[in-house]
This record gives sequence, C-alpha cells and structure tokens, in this order.
Amino acid sequence: MTDLDRDTLDGDWIRRFLFEGANVRGVIVRLGAAWRQIRAGDSYPDAVADVLGEMSAASALLAGDIRMSGKVSVQLRGGKVLKLGFVECTSEGHVRGLARWDGDGSDPFAPESLSEAVLAITIEREESGQRYQGLVPLEGANLALSLERYFEQSEQLPTAIHLFANETSAVGLLLQQVPAEGGIASEHDALTFEHARTLAATIRAEELHDLEAETVLRRLFAEDDLRVFEPDFVRFQCSCSHERVAAMLRALGRDEAFAAIGDGGLVEVHCEFCNRRYAFDAVDLEAVMRGETGAPGSALQQ
Ligand SMILES: [Zn+2]
Repeated sequence: MTDLDRDTLDGDWIRRFLFEGANVRGVIVRLGAAWRQIRAGDSYPDAVADVLGEMSAASALLAGDIRMSGKVSVQLRGGKVLKLGFVECTSEGHVRGLARWDGDGSDPFAPESLSEAVLAITIEREESGQRYQGLVPLEGANLALSLERYFEQSEQLPTAIHLFANETSAVGLLLQQVPAEGGIASEHDALTFEHARTLAATIRAEELHDLEAETVLRRLFAEDDLRVFEPDFVRFQCSCSHERVAAMLRALGRDEAFAAIGDGGLVEVHCEFCNRRYAFDAVDLEAVMRGETGAPGSALQQ
C-alpha cells in the first residue's frame, strides 16, 4: 500500500459514482479525522455517538448527492434519549455536529424513545439563499431507513442508504434512481436500481470502514460498468468566528449583552460545535455595539 492509498483510506472523502447506461447514481463516504473531531466535542455515551456518527456520514452523503453550493444539515430532534442531534456539511466539505442527550444515553433508537422524534433535512442554497426543509418521523426506524423514507416522500426518488459508525470512522453508501430525461423512468433504470440495491444490502460495516471506495464498489458491483469520480475531501471545520459572535451579541441588544457580563468582567460565549470560547469585556462590547467587532485578540481558545 502506498502512502497515497493510506492517505485516501484514512482520509475523509466523498466519492460519487454512476451506473453507465442507467439513471442510477451513488455516493460513498468515509469520515475519519473529521468524525473523530466531532466525537471528541463532548463525552458522548457510545450509543449516542453511534447515532451522531451515522448522522455525520449521512450529511456527507447528502452533500455529495445534492451537489450544490450551500449546505445540508441532518437534524434529529424530539427523542426521549437523543434530545437533539445536528450535523451539517457544506459544499466545500466542511462538516460539524453535536448531540444533546438525556439520562445515560443508552438506546436512542428504542421505539419508546422515538414517539415524538423527527428527522429534519435542511438544504440551504448559497446562490439563491433558498432554504428548504423536509421532515419525516423516526418512529420505530433507524436513521438510514428514515432517510430512505425522506427521499421517497419528499423527492420521489427511490433510494437505498447504509450508514455505520465506530470510534474511528463514520461511513455510508447511498444509491439512487434519478429521473431520466423527460422525467419518465425506464424499466431498465428501475431494474438497475433494484439490482444495485440488492447487492448493496450485502455490505458489511467493516468493508466500508476499512476498504477504499474503489475496492468496495468493485466487490459489490463486480459485473456492472461503473464510472467513479475523483474524491471530494471533507474536514472538520466550524463556521463560528469572532465576527459572528459579535453580530449575535449586537442582535441581542445593548442591555441584554451588558447584563450578560459575569463576575470576571467578561461575556463568555462557548461554541458547542468546536469548543472555542469567545470573551468580550465591557470595552469590547462598546465596540461591538458601535458596529465594530471588538478586539479579536480577546477570543480565548480552548
Ligand atoms: Zn465553533
């Protein structure tokens, strides 16, 4: 194995592929370091971390599938154990996420935990500023099945999804039958998709965790003519900044912002995605309220 192979394998990537001669496409993703950084954001119980990992892989799959400039988020809310799970992936491959849970965090997908839980997929397009959100219930399902249901209900696209996460990587595979030109699905497309879905159902977690994309695809679809595109790379990157926190304080208003000054003479804001801490003293706050961002040097970084 060359160093390049090892980098690709241990890296964080999105690979798109398509079945030649059919309107069936796919995405395969692996998040290594990016997932480990999301996971390190809190002391997550294993069962919660597993769901957050699957959500991380899902957000990268959707970003690879939708291919537009902007961002895609996968949000799970209202569970009795998993109160909130949120992961977003931008078209530049910047991913970040977090989860909040109750109790010991065990078994977030037990049916009794999900009676009011919903899965929200949000797509924000950069050029048009448009924001679209689709919701599906999570009742009695796992994340991959709920996402398949989302695509069938919201997009009318037959879709198969597999998601796995462990401590070191979060991985996923998506297959989708897309509309043919003129919008009429041919029997050939439907058959190709069913054939691909059946083969993909044999995927094992360790294959996606441990093998590079080409090897997985060659094993799964040995008889098929696939076109596999170059990888898009993914990394952990939080979009928080001193300027954004300053804008948030300004939006809060002068009285509330000053009232938030604590005993140490600082307003402290903690980003839960990346654990960075921002601090503003009264002089910084005056500058923020005047429309300046305050002294960037005052940001504390953990
Ligand atoms: Zn942050």
